[in-house]
Amino acid sequence: MSTFLGMPSLPVFGTGNLHAAESFPTAAHRELGNAQLRANLGHATHTIRDKRLQVVSELPDWEQLRDAGSAIKESVMARLPELLEQFEQNFTARGGVIHWARDAGEANDIVAGLIRDTGETEVVKVKSMATQEIGLNEYLEEQGITAFETDLAELIVQLDHDKPSHILVPAIHKNRTEIRDIFLREMPGADPALTDNPAVLAMAARAHLRRKFLTAKVAVSGANFALADSGTLAVVESEGNGRMCLTLPETLITVMGVEKLLPTWQDLEVFMQLLPRSSTGERMNPYTSLWTGVTDGDGPRNVHLVLLDNGRSAALADEMGRSALHCIRCSACMNVCPVYERTGGHAYGSTYPGPIGAILSPLLTGIESEENSSLPYASSLCGACYDACPVKINIPDILVHLRSVDVDSKRGKKKLPSQMDVGMKAASWALSSGKRLGLVEKGLPLGRLAAGPDHKITKLPGIAAGWTQSRDIPAPPQKSFRDWWAKEHHGPETGGTNAPARGTARADAHLNAQDKEDGA
Ligand code: SF4
Repeated sequence: MSTFLGMPSLPVFGTGNLHAAESFPTAAHRELGNAQLRANLGHATHTIRDKRLQVVSELPDWEQLRDAGSAIKESVMARLPELLEQFEQNFTARGGVIHWARDAGEANDIVAGLIRDTGETEVVKVKSMATQEIGLNEYLEEQGITAFETDLAELIVQLDHDKPSHILVPAIHKNRTEIRDIFLREMPGADPALTDNPAVLAMAARAHLRRKFLTAKVAVSGANFALADSGTLAVVESEGNGRMCLTLPETLITVMGVEKLLPTWQDLEVFMQLLPRSSTGERMNPYTSLWTGVTDGDGPRNVHLVLLDNGRSAALADEMGRSALHCIRCSACMNVCPVYERTGGHAYGSTYPGPIGAILSPLLTGIESEENSSLPYASSLCGACYDACPVKINIPDILVHLRSVDVDSKRGKKKLPSQMDVGMKAASWALSSGKRLGLVEKGLPLGRLAAGPDHKITKLPGIAAGWTQSRDIPAPPQKSFRDWWAKEHHGPETGGTNAPARGTARADAHLNAQDKEDGA
């Protein structure tokens, strides 16, 4: 037995496509100028949202299902090391090979190495958030390996050299005319007479993909769930292209975040009700593929699984934020989010946009990741995401928590105090004493000098400009509330006109007591 004498290792934060390249306010400002994007998004999110509400209302036990989903995920997080070991044992016993990846770089290296071992230079891919998170396609390209996306929306984004903007409908920001133009421009052999009819576009994509399915020897996939009690992996999808990838090639390489585990097959029944209803508004998704290791004469001969941490351990260590790992990537939260609906997914910078992205990305990368620290502020805190989430992730609470972590981390870096810090200190000084507040109030009427003839203040300096950019402030009254109160209620000796009533006497007593306490 050896004894460990070093420092315990610090949490490893996530790398890859989790870091925004610019802050959310900057990116959102630019995206807000794209009227076409807003129209496409508004139409798509409202359609899915309405479908979801309808199918959810059919289930009398929907709330109990959400509770069950949340409880299962909570127990998975509490038992993660034990469940991972159980899964590994079962997966390897059935002929699969497990690879552990600490971050995006390690995962990419492992996948590229496995593909190189097969001698192939082309792979087909099932839509996978984990491989987008690690930037696998870009990495493989550098290694001389071409990855073909087979999910229709993902294919559209890939052909257009664009980035996904929604976790379920990656091309949600494009309309059918734009898609036809992309096919004509980028798809080899596309019929020049192609129309923007969705069925025609789908047939064109099908013909293009069929050629790839029939020749590919290697496939790369993600996984929606992994069952610890049998070592089984599951992918749910709508088009059937995923199933072609999972069954036709000789080698199948799956990349999956460690949080996707479920303890037993029985737990899957809860999520098979929650996920399709929350994501596509369907009672059941059209294709569910489950595979357990290698079986003679059936499916891929070599089955690999890359288990990805990439910041998940760090997120797990955050007591308040760890429930973000319960996410089943249904996208219901983004379809109801007023901020996402207007800015679109690209404004969030990371692979994970919308409300879940605003908490998951900074948790995986650490809030110190410069541009990701603006993400927890990308929310109105209206709570619609919490209401929609099938596993009851309290996104608003985690947003507030991360905002406080961000403020603390900046304070910890001993930067010069910001205008907000100075303002808050001044407010705390004034509001903690009635006497001081009275003094400050005496100065307020001076604000009338800043107001124009229409009695409105339209421009303030510094951070206060953020307020006046979108609204005016009415000019302050000529006298403060205290002065008005004294004049109205303190009797003739103070110029007051009314005798104090019971309630006002109490208020007077309170003000006087406070002034005495302050030494007035
Ligand atoms: S946070 Fe909840 S609603 Fe949003 S994608 Fe994840 S599971 Fe779905």
